[in-house]
Amino acid sequence: MSEVTTCCGSSYEDSTIADCCSVEMYSNDSKCPVCKDNTEATGYICNECGNWTETLEELIEYEARIHENYLEERADAKRKYGE
Ligand SMILES: [Zn+2]
Ligand SMILES: [Zn+2]
Repeated sequence: MSEVTTCCGSSYEDSTIADCCSVEMYSNDSKCPVCKDNTEATGYICNECGNWTETLEELIEYEARIHENYLEERADAKRKYGE
């Protein structure tokens, strides 16, 4: 399966940001460096824009969405310029 980030359709890294305190976790530790509780780093970091994202989508879904947006924009432009 090829999954990509929803923002850029890019590859991603697993997030290392602790859910509880939004700080970087040490990769070999399951404890938050701030509150010392056991925590997890959920989500993913987009390799393209560096944003954190919780969900991924299939590459084909992403491309279908982009294509739809493109068609909509073209339709808008047509309406605007009366072509
Ligand atoms: Zn992105
Ligand atoms: Zn914490």
